[in-house]
Amino acid sequence: MTGGERFAKLGHLINGQIVRNGKTFPVNDPSTGKMFADCPEATDELLAEAVDAAGRTAASWAALGLGGRQKVIGAMAAALDQHITDIVAISTLEKGSVRGSAEAYAASFFMKHAAGTEVPVDVVEDNEQRSVVVVRKPVGVVAAITPWNAPILILCEKIATALLLGNTVVAKPSPFTSLATLALGELWKDIVPPGVLNIVAGGDELGAALVNHPTVRMVSFTGSVAAGQQIARSAGASLKNILLELGGNDAAIVLPDVDVDTVAEQIFNIAFLMSGQTCAAIKRLYVHRSIFEPMVAALARLAEADQPARNGADGALDPLTTLPQYQRVRMILDDAIERGAHAAAGGHALDRDGYFMAATILTDVTTDMKVVAEEQFGPLLPVIPFDDVDDAIAAANATEYGLSGSIWTSNIAMGAELASRLDCGTTCVNSHAEVAPHIPFGGTKISGAGRTGGRQGLDAYAELQTQYIYKSPERVRT
Ligand code: NAD
Repeated sequence: MTGGERFAKLGHLINGQIVRNGKTFPVNDPSTGKMFADCPEATDELLAEAVDAAGRTAASWAALGLGGRQKVIGAMAAALDQHITDIVAISTLEKGSVRGSAEAYAASFFMKHAAGTEVPVDVVEDNEQRSVVVVRKPVGVVAAITPWNAPILILCEKIATALLLGNTVVAKPSPFTSLATLALGELWKDIVPPGVLNIVAGGDELGAALVNHPTVRMVSFTGSVAAGQQIARSAGASLKNILLELGGNDAAIVLPDVDVDTVAEQIFNIAFLMSGQTCAAIKRLYVHRSIFEPMVAALARLAEADQPARNGADGALDPLTTLPQYQRVRMILDDAIERGAHAAAGGHALDRDGYFMAATILTDVTTDMKVVAEEQFGPLLPVIPFDDVDDAIAAANATEYGLSGSIWTSNIAMGAELASRLDCGTTCVNSHAEVAPHIPFGGTKISGAGRTGGRQGLDAYAELQTQYIYKSPERVRT
């Protein structure tokens, strides 16, 4: 089957059927900058059908029970494993990533974890007179809205957790990376009961219409702060539950007692994973002045060695996934250079097709430059010297963002104490960007509301019901 024929088969998943309505929007390959496929675009009527189907099946899906739901989620993961090459091929084209396979395997791992997860019941009291327990009930119809930077992993994590708790789902992927999501819908069509999982592709307006739909009871959103704020406003008007995983401007602080080359390599790999397009990438690096020059030199050597990749072939450097993101990162770089920053490596877009930029290490940066003050979400790392670690902590915390942060040191006790002073949802000593299905993850301040992962991540997709059971109808109330 040619690529064109493969994509022409894709459609929205609505009430167990693949639906194509003739309306489409173009999808670009970021490694060439050229359009390579048309993606189906859902109308408001199709969106309404999808939400209605999810609403109609909510009770029967919840009634299936935990074991039945786990079985379905396990079968979805197995189908993903079986067709992973096809999903990765599509995702690599639309996302431009060389690590598409890693994301898809992580997605399968998260689904399998959900398939084996028990939903806890909290026994608050159990005595002769009464028992008091807290159980987790489904919220109802969940809107799962996903971004372009990790479209498969984030989608699978949201869907698996929502379904596990007994919710039904309407998912809407980013318009930049909808094809792999629609291909997953095609895969799961005959595994999930009709209406339990629906997938509609379209732009930001379709996402806004989904959030506003009165049948939707929860919005699970991962994406930009601006969209998260709009969603919080409209979901707030009807008091829908929200889970918001938004942007970050993570700081890492390196103390003078580390082995510079080893730590430089680890930090480089985290900061430049997917060309910096990960929410919890290291986006500001504070280095003790005594090791500042060797650290910059080591990072610059790694950056110079990082070569661009094309459609998953050789090389490690991904393109920026979208044209607007490419233009924004170039603007942030220009802003820094115009105001006196120095590129120790990179500092330019690549002279080739596609949205590639050289891995860039910036020094002589100031706090008012966009590359320090904002989430750059690209292959630019500002490196800033400090003399006093208290000043570094204060600088790390001087941001509206609060996703994660890290301290790098051989003195683990001191590292743990310093890390606890970082104002963010996750802190690490000698690591960064840690995400796992059994561990809570999320942001403080404008980086989000609520947590995915772990017990807290289950609760995000549930309504807690407190149940009092008195063991005799003749009790005397005191
Ligand atoms: P985006 O906000 O532009 O879009 C994300 C999704 O929301 C898309 O599907 C889009 O169509 C939809 N959308 C946009 N406006 C909407 C609205 N008003 N109502 C409903 N839906 C709307 O984000 P993006 O550019 O795709 O993703 C990049 C951002 O995502 C970065 O800021 C990154 O840090 C963040 N992100 C955060 C995490 C996390 O876990 N905290 C993980 C990955 C990405």
